Amino acid sequence: MTLIADLVSLHQVDSQARALRTRLESASHFVEVQERQRTQLRCRLEELRSQSRQYQATAANHEAESGSVKARIESLRTQLNTSTNPKQYAAVLNELKLLQSKRDQIDELTLSQLNKVEEVQAKFAELERQVLERTKVRDGGQAELETCRGEVGLRLGELEQERSVAAARVPQHDLEIFNSAADRYDGEAMAELVAVDAKRREYVCGVCNMELPPEKYATLASNPNVSVPCPSCHRILFLSEVTTAVGR
Ligand SMILES: [Zn+2]
Repeated sequence: MTLIADLVSLHQVDSQARALRTRLESASHFVEVQERQRTQLRCRLEELRSQSRQYQATAANHEAESGSVKARIESLRTQLNTSTNPKQYAAVLNELKLLQSKRDQIDELTLSQLNKVEEVQAKFAELERQVLERTKVRDGGQAELETCRGEVGLRLGELEQERSVAAARVPQHDLEIFNSAADRYDGEAMAELVAVDAKRREYVCGVCNMELPPEKYATLASNPNVSVPCPSCHRILFLSEVTTAVGR
């Protein structure tokens, strides 16, 4: 076999193996993305849980404070009822009013904290629903990944074996050019050299469409044991039988 023929067969197994690997990778990537989102949601749930605890604790403090003010108010009321001195009566009444207003303020604060607790709990329920949904999607993706591993795994092993056999037939220097183009173009390492007009010696790279100097064709047609990369996209050029026939 010629170098170009070897490269073409390497290209065939290489691109098939890459396609299968891509399928596996995207199935696995999907699961990772779902898992990451699920973790973020769960972190947010934890934050909300601790927020809710804080609001509840603050509300409890306010309630306790309100309770002690209430006790003080009740004792003042007793004093008021038993008071005989008008001056003292007025002073107690005044303090009573101040305490009553203070207690109202504290009760408002308690209420606002309890409202916050309610808001947080509503968000919490929504997030729990989202976590559940994300878990289902992730589990679906995981099952798909297992199926994919089963279907692709065996064939991929065979293709990788075939690829290393095909690669062993290609000299190191050409293999490096091939690998670099294959990595760059996701497996599309080769491009057909196309004769646009053979009589006028007009040739282009079949993939990037760049016009090629006629020497590229001449080199390739005269010696199928050298690799000729496209000067523009660096894919390795090959001649189809038709191009070769037209060129003759
Ligand atoms: Zn090209």
